[in-house]
Amino acid sequence: MNKIIDIHTLTVQLPTRREHKWTGLTEPIGRYVLVKLTDSDGHVGWGEAPALKDWGGEFGRYFGESPAIAELVIERYLKPAIVGIEVGNFGALHERMDAAIKGYPYAKAAVEFAAYDLAGRALGVPVHRLLGGAVRRRIPVTHSLGLIGMEEAVREARSVVDEGIRTIKIKVGQDPRRDIAIVKAIRAEVGPAIDLCVDANEGYKTPGEAIRTLREMELQGLKYAEQPVMGIEGLAAVARAIDTPVMADESAWNAHDVIQIIERRAAQIVSIYTTKPGGLYRAMEVAAVARAAGLICNVNGSVETGVGNLANLQLAACAPAVVLSCVIPVSTPAAQQHGQLGGIYYRDDLLVEGMRLIDGCIELPDGPGMGIDVDLAKVAKYQIQGAVA
Ligand SMILES: [Mg+2]
Repeated sequence: MNKIIDIHTLTVQLPTRREHKWTGLTEPIGRYVLVKLTDSDGHVGWGEAPALKDWGGEFGRYFGESPAIAELVIERYLKPAIVGIEVGNFGALHERMDAAIKGYPYAKAAVEFAAYDLAGRALGVPVHRLLGGAVRRRIPVTHSLGLIGMEEAVREARSVVDEGIRTIKIKVGQDPRRDIAIVKAIRAEVGPAIDLCVDANEGYKTPGEAIRTLREMELQGLKYAEQPVMGIEGLAAVARAIDTPVMADESAWNAHDVIQIIERRAAQIVSIYTTKPGGLYRAMEVAAVARAAGLICNVNGSVETGVGNLANLQLAACAPAVVLSCVIPVSTPAAQQHGQLGGIYYRDDLLVEGMRLIDGCIELPDGPGMGIDVDLAKVAKYQIQGAVA
């Protein structure tokens, strides 16, 4: 049986199409750690840690991970723990990683994505087969409008709707008056058939402020209100007071968090990441807990490069609780970009072939492993000096 014999890390920085910001973010997106795993038969798998120091759990419950931290954790603690593991044994992989160091789900997720990619390529099957099979082949894309000016936001909303996008997420949580006005302006531009959602990234100061603001926004029709305030108790207060379903994101990192959300009736929707719980294997657990309680989910992320985004697609295809459109990029190399904006956050990507937006959806790739090969020339082009030599 083939075994994992080598693990290599490097840091890349992709050029962004425009600044993409949300409440609390102070570092640019796109500077992420890549992991390359090699097995004893020479197969290779790739993973990514889209780690951001500003992205953590509430009340210090989960810490931010910067690229430098993720790289250090992988090199110093995870690498010695996982060399020698049988390819395809994800249970053992997680057990060994968790025994090596507590926490650091983004570092662990990067290693685990590479292990899934490697196993799929070694076995000649797509990762979605390893996750239990795809329950949907076309993943509808939610286009995320960061904290940008009103005119730019309205213009971009128009463009992406014209390209086929059917769901738009608007980043809010800074100033209630601005937030209400931007939702109104975008609704006026795109009409009633487009789903609009708002994500405050815990930005409202109190549940009361969130409730007053969301009640105004609800008049425009909202699909859901994502993480209006910090904390499961705060979410529960908002969820009781408004008609729009509340989505937990910062409050929902792993299966245990979702159990607390269910107990407190804090949200009707859970935003699942491949990274917050520490990888696909754990993300499927989160989805199973949500499904057992009748919660629905989307797949959300940190504006990954194509490498990490392929893992997002696999999860979005396989988890039966994931019925909503997903905030995943349409990862596209520069040569295949022709001025479109829908799901495009970077001017280039690390995959040899782009994900195409068709009727507002991404088709699940069917190639072995994660489904699309990594472009080694692009990896070399965008590699920057990492923190760990
Ligand atoms: Mg969010």
